[in-house]
Amino acid sequence: MNPDSGLCPICGGSKTEGAITFTADLQETLVVVRGVPATVCALCGNEWLDDATAAALERIVEEARKKNCLFEVAQFSTFSQSAAASPIHAA
Ligand SMILES: [Zn+2]
Repeated sequence: MNPDSGLCPICGGSKTEGAITFTADLQETLVVVRGVPATVCALCGNEWLDDATAAALERIVEEARKKNCLFEVAQFSTFSQSAAASPIHAA
């Protein structure tokens, strides 16, 4: 659980902490989660998520799939990664 240590294994660039917009294009639903905490390579832009974040995203995607809506936008709660996100719906 220390994703910001070391260098990018792909290009050797330095990793920085940041927030990304995660998208998952399911067949019937497009899921967009904003403000997802991630480690991003400054050079090649590769992104790493820690386990808790990845698990939370999985739950959000699963919820969206169950709802069967066309488009789901959620804001990731950075202050409680284990509690996942509070989904909001696009107008
Ligand atoms: Zn890189």
